[in-house]
Amino acid sequence: MDIIKEIKRLKKEHNAVIIAHNYQLPEVQDIADYLGDSLELSRLSRSLPEKTIIFCGVKFMAETAKILSPEKTVIIPEIDAGCAMAAMTDIDELMKMKQNYPDAKIAAYVNTTAETKAFSDICCTSANAAMIVNSLDTERVIFVPDRNLAAYVASKTDKTIIPYNGYCYVHNQFTLNDIDDARKLHPEAVIFVHPESPREVQEAADYVLSTGGMLKMANNIDKPIIVGTEREMTYRMRKEYPDKTFYVFKENDPPICTNMKKITLNKILSALQDNKYKIDINDNIRERAFQSINAMLSVT
Ligand code: 13P
Ligand code: SF4
Repeated sequence: MDIIKEIKRLKKEHNAVIIAHNYQLPEVQDIADYLGDSLELSRLSRSLPEKTIIFCGVKFMAETAKILSPEKTVIIPEIDAGCAMAAMTDIDELMKMKQNYPDAKIAAYVNTTAETKAFSDICCTSANAAMIVNSLDTERVIFVPDRNLAAYVASKTDKTIIPYNGYCYVHNQFTLNDIDDARKLHPEAVIFVHPESPREVQEAADYVLSTGGMLKMANNIDKPIIVGTEREMTYRMRKEYPDKTFYVFKENDPPICTNMKKITLNKILSALQDNKYKIDINDNIRERAFQSINAMLSVT
């Protein structure tokens, strides 16, 4: 059986659309109807006419699509594709932080579970975190869960940021040595890093950008670019700009988000054949999480 043909046939038959995050495997990116960062994908999920969304990404992304479009069927081809950082938020601990700072509002990075979003005042993504925090009417803001993105936001605001102690294991391992090595290897190139990287790495890079931001910025840069984020982002950049030069950061030991790689063509085929795995969220949580995502979308 030609798996790609079969996926395309079933997609039509089920009135489904395939959307994929920029970190998905090359063959998954190639079969997707749309690619994007988490903000783009959550916005897109609302406006697509298809009634079934096959979401190739990690679970919080598919949950966000379901929260925004409850009338649609949202399917993630691998139920165990979770975000390690999203799993770090403990609601009891967050409640304690709120008790310690009752005047503070809670800004939740979109890399959180629906429960965490429901407990928060507003959501943000790496593309809009500073703008969202600056839009809040409190002087103190609890930022959950990424301490590195929190440090980035703190550098862009006069507000007091109270960070939760979470991190992304893929980006948190980047070091100043990695930046030095990349500069030595490609002295003619500029370095992009994701704001989930440690603060000193952000400061040593040339640009700190979300994956969507990297894609846009590349259009304005005439030099080669070192893509300081998950390995497959380089595939996405090369696809978008075939005439430009992109290098994988830490080429000998590239950063890989293993859960993003759990989605394969075979799993997309099963998802379409068996309607699995459907994202389901309890109404109460979904409605409260919606308020928090909608608050973000109203600002942006
Ligand atoms: P973006 O919103 O920049 O795509 O980031 C999502 C993510 O999980 C980064 O690790
Ligand atoms: Fe989560 Fe990090 Fe993977 Fe992004 S790269 S999905 S933050 S574990």
